[in-house]
Amino acid sequence: MGYHGPFDIDSRVSDFLERDPALFIDGARKAAAGTALLPVHDPASGLQIAEIINADATDVDRAVQSAHLSFTDGRWRNLRAADREKALYRFSQLIEEHAEPLAQLESLEQGKSINLSRMFESGASAEWLRYTAGLTTKMTGQTLELSLPPGPQHWTAYTRREPIGVVGAISPWNFPMLIAIWKVAPALAAGCSVVLKPSEITPLSALWLAELAIEAGIPEGVFNVVTGAGASAGQALVNHPLVRKISFTGSTATGKIIGRAAIDRMAPASLELGGKNPAIVLADTDIEATVSGLMLGGFLNQGQVCAAASRIYVEHGIYDNLVGALESAIKAMPVGPGLDPAAQVNPLVSKAHQDKVIHYLHDAQEKGATIIDGASIPEGSDGYFVGPKLILDPADGVALKREEVFGPIVSITRVEDREEALTLANDSDLGLTASIWTQDLQAAMNLSRRVEAGTVWINSHNFIDPNMPFGGTKQSGIGRDFGTDWLHSYTETKSVCIAH
Ligand code: NDP
Repeated sequence: MGYHGPFDIDSRVSDFLERDPALFIDGARKAAAGTALLPVHDPASGLQIAEIINADATDVDRAVQSAHLSFTDGRWRNLRAADREKALYRFSQLIEEHAEPLAQLESLEQGKSINLSRMFESGASAEWLRYTAGLTTKMTGQTLELSLPPGPQHWTAYTRREPIGVVGAISPWNFPMLIAIWKVAPALAAGCSVVLKPSEITPLSALWLAELAIEAGIPEGVFNVVTGAGASAGQALVNHPLVRKISFTGSTATGKIIGRAAIDRMAPASLELGGKNPAIVLADTDIEATVSGLMLGGFLNQGQVCAAASRIYVEHGIYDNLVGALESAIKAMPVGPGLDPAAQVNPLVSKAHQDKVIHYLHDAQEKGATIIDGASIPEGSDGYFVGPKLILDPADGVALKREEVFGPIVSITRVEDREEALTLANDSDLGLTASIWTQDLQAAMNLSRRVEAGTVWINSHNFIDPNMPFGGTKQSGIGRDFGTDWLHSYTETKSVCIAH
């Protein structure tokens, strides 16, 4: 167990990997009720680096009971808002102090480039936590003028926002630490207690975060982590009667299962789900800037990004130039493990996911699609690599034309004009993000209003910000994360009405 590969890693990471598996309940590492374990692999080599507990319903119940007690006795939610803000701010500082080992751990368990881990896992986690800490002290209600006050008395009515209770947070494997923070930070800022279930494939950083939260002064029992399989530990968390809200990021298929279970007991659920996101490229675009933007949009983290630009619609006047430039760019990407800072093509997260992505490629091949290969993978590699690919003008029936692949595969379709591009862009059950590439402000404003997506970028793709709401339309989800209203979905609104 542990990492024995060719790169030097921080001793704190080696020590972390060699610890006995544990859950994090009531402020400390705890053994499980049972003995079931799950392996964690390094996607660059396929070798096992750690083991985690495969929690069962008894373990999940212990974690939820701990969170429930911490909520009902008020040890966190009844602290002064300024003190909760201070603890969350300290939590963000501790992430910064541990930024390098946390980034290395993410590259090891998820496979992504160490540059991305530094920027988007430890770096952005600290930033989002700091932004959210600031919201702790900005909670407000409203005073209300009643429209039908009965009788001769005076009436004063107002609303309060109260923390909703125990939050069951379930996060995916593509940005394990950052998305865990997106679930945990607003819940804590609102005064809730949390049980987090990270993906079984990338569970390690969540356990480390829980320890840092304790060091930051967040009381025991307020932030718990249960590791284990989605269908058992995840489902037990979603079904637990003391969990008052579900915060989920993951696939649309799982989101539907979770949404149904939540509604069955009237627990609100925020669902951040998948995307099949279009980029519309008009003929007047700046081609160099568009190519570098689409490389980021399509291939960041090997396309394992819910917001990724996975289908590009290009006006015919610029189509050949754009395809040529993207082909050159994907052929020039260096391949290697995430811990190699020069490598831009890194492994996918797991063998199962590699097989799924290859299956989409075989389907496209069998149905006669034109596939342009990018950088090739060295023979004999044991890692879960898939080289970047462009699929030109896929016919109806090619599965990747409509389905989210979540891999380094981008389709490019030639269109007559912007209206055809818009029609094709909106012809999807999903609606998470979209981008428009043009120098024509009128066209950009017109298309941005008509494209069906929760976020529309003009001349960029994949840029997110804590102050800019993010979430899906159509089957890409329910609810919005980030922004000044972020905490609202972790609260209940109570109306107070006084006759005097
Ligand atoms: P999954 O839906 O497979 O899993 C997400 C989480 O749900 C994991 O922790 C998983 O556990 C858990 N889970 C699985 N089944 C259940 C269940 N029945 N009950 C409760 N929990 C369950 O998604 P992936 O991890 O494969 O993540 C990729 C998906 O996430 C993509 O579709 C992507 O688009 C989406 N995503 C959306 C984002 C957004 O903001 N809209 C952001 C990032 C990703 P386990 O892994 O252990 O099975």
